[in-house]
Amino acid sequence: MLNVAGFYKNFNRGRSVPGVFRLGEPMSAHTTFKTGGPADVWVRPEGGDFPEYSGELILSARNEGIPVFILGGGANIVVAETGIRGIVLDTGGYNAVHGEPGGIVAVQAGASVDDAVRYAASVELSGLEFLAGMPGSLGGAVWMNARCYEKSVSDVLVDTEVIDLGGQFPLRTVVPCLQRDFGYKKSPFQNRDALIVGSRFALKKGTAEKIAGEMEEHRLDREEKGHYRFPSAGSVFKNNRKFGRPAGKIIDELGLCGLAVGDAQVAPWHGNIIINRGKAAGSEIKALAELVAGKVRSRLGLELEYEILFIGF
Ligand SMILES: Cc1cc2nc3c(=O)[nH]c(=O)nc-3n(C[C@H](O)[C@H](O)[C@H](O)COP(=O)(O)OP(=O)(O)OC[C@H]3O[C@@H](n4cnc5c(N)ncnc54)[C@H](O)[C@@H]3O)c2cc1C
Repeated sequence: MLNVAGFYKNFNRGRSVPGVFRLGEPMSAHTTFKTGGPADVWVRPEGGDFPEYSGELILSARNEGIPVFILGGGANIVVAETGIRGIVLDTGGYNAVHGEPGGIVAVQAGASVDDAVRYAASVELSGLEFLAGMPGSLGGAVWMNARCYEKSVSDVLVDTEVIDLGGQFPLRTVVPCLQRDFGYKKSPFQNRDALIVGSRFALKKGTAEKIAGEMEEHRLDREEKGHYRFPSAGSVFKNNRKFGRPAGKIIDELGLCGLAVGDAQVAPWHGNIIINRGKAAGSEIKALAELVAGKVRSRLGLELEYEILFIGF
């Protein structure tokens, strides 16, 4: 068993970066599924030194054989009940949002999507409304190239500042958004060893009333679709155009809504959402997702692709 706590305390000696850290922190407190066992060390650094500190932490930990998981809002992950070995680096303390000339909004990775959307609305800039009400951090949304209401994050992204972790030393770099690098729920960061520290978005002048109206429309739509009724991570599977209909419809047509493993249940009202009805363990959510994918495979010959990520299994 690696002495993760000992490593972390040693690493911090002589450093004065503000923030919070806890040993054995339950991940259920940091995931929208409200499930997941303890992280050996959970740390949420704060302040302007976050990028350098985090880069050094990740590389030093790796040198000692200690893995580091980067956590955004925990809105797209299922964590095992055995938790996460090593260090969980929570980006939530690095969360400023500000405007730049020319309709640019710059957002630090740990800011919530909703904070970025609200900031843009407050300065009457339009373009982020489609994300209103979507849980998670901005860094996570860029990493996932989150998509809703026919728009993807990459549609308004200008560039992303990262700490590259592929070399011997952490390297701060700006990655311009090239459309060819992005796709449906795909970003280049999924194949790059890097910590996203912030992104800039190009928005257009709008009117406060119209922007607020669109945000409210999306929020209400999510409410009506039952997104906030129970803990979940949104869509379990990606949609695949070749299947001719959304994953949720396919699952619904097979009569799988309501199917349960323990407290994990396919939402009775939506085939592509798994909900935590109470005390669902990560392994129950995983088993249910596998059961659904297996039934779709055996009955229709279709291979569903996971959108949610399983961590610690
Ligand atoms: C009710 C509900 C509705 C949802 N609706 C939608 C929707 O309409 N469209 C959609 O696309 N998604 C949706 N989601 C899923 C989720 O909101 C998005 O995928 C979101 O972008 C995840 O961001 P996060 O910060 O929570 O990432 P996390 O779940 O914390 O992490 C996801 C991945 O990103 C990586 N990551 C996070 N931050 C960084 C960083 N700074 N640097 C490097 N890697 C990082 C993590 O290591 C992990 O691999 C929904 C979820 C819920 C609960």
